[in-house]
Amino acid sequence: MNKFTKILLNWFDEHQRVLPWRGETDPYKIWVSEIILQQTRVVQGISYYQRFVEKFPDVTALASADEAEVLKLWQGLGYYSRARNMHAAAQFIRDHHHGVFPSDYKSIRSLKGIGDYTAAAIGSIAFGLPCPAVDGNVLRFVARYTGLYDNIAVESTRRHVEALCGQWLPAECPGTFNQAMMEMGAICCVPKSPDCSQCPFVDQCFAFQHGQVDQLPVKEHAVKIKRRYFNYFIFLSGGRTLLQRREADDIWKNLYEFPLVESPSSHFDVDRALASFSLDWETTPELVWETRHVLTHRHIFARFYVLNVKSLPPVLPHQVVVPLENLRSYAVAKVTEIAINKLFG
Ligand code: SF4
Repeated sequence: MNKFTKILLNWFDEHQRVLPWRGETDPYKIWVSEIILQQTRVVQGISYYQRFVEKFPDVTALASADEAEVLKLWQGLGYYSRARNMHAAAQFIRDHHHGVFPSDYKSIRSLKGIGDYTAAAIGSIAFGLPCPAVDGNVLRFVARYTGLYDNIAVESTRRHVEALCGQWLPAECPGTFNQAMMEMGAICCVPKSPDCSQCPFVDQCFAFQHGQVDQLPVKEHAVKIKRRYFNYFIFLSGGRTLLQRREADDIWKNLYEFPLVESPSSHFDVDRALASFSLDWETTPELVWETRHVLTHRHIFARFYVLNVKSLPPVLPHQVVVPLENLRSYAVAKVTEIAINKLFG
């Protein structure tokens, strides 16, 4: 075993965090933990992981569940395509792999929602496949350690780091190596103020030795942020309201929300928008809350209008009439959840 790997594994042995999926060899549970952690902090992810594997203990249980049930359990984690993809992938495993999680890299990588990193993590931890798993933590640590100034947001840099990690990866314990690399970036070589004085690599680290820790890694996004303007109507009639399911191939697909009119800019003509609902109003619409919700590549400017109506508008196939006390039974996006809590206590 090379010197770098020996130092890393010794450090990991002593410093790794105790996590519910640590030491886990069931590929299904490793998969669940990796998908949850893709865009979620560990502290928040733990309780979701525990609830998820308790409710759906294996691939078959997840495959047999209703998608609405899966989304409800995911509520609050965001990036709901992760849950939808897992559900679809579980059904694929049930139908095409006899319910047994595949054990070769190509089959794991071809499952919906599984990219290079996740396939390598599952493959190495569950099946001992010699695949380096390179996530943001590993990129940061390797960029600082080796003095790599390439933009880590681009795929070619990730490939380069993957090749470097491949040289350090020990054949006898690739899963432990991958977890140790990620843990190093997660708890020692952290984005701001890394713990260099406690780092076992301080003597060889390029960034530390050259006073460049604050300048590495280089991360430049070329992505343009898109603004969207969502205007929601909360119609109230006899203690009931209307919710609708988002069906288009768009953010929050299959989650519920109040009837929505999206406008191209912040300018919004409320009366004109309401005319399309053929309603008999009892009160004029009142703007009760507005907020900006930040997603990775989008900023959602959401407004919520409340109005009492004589009767709810005709119910379309993707809509449901909901007694106010049942509003929380539906899977909704964070912004709608906050609105419900604010307005209905
Ligand atoms: S010395 Fe500091 S910058 Fe270098 S790898 Fe260790 S924690 Fe990261």
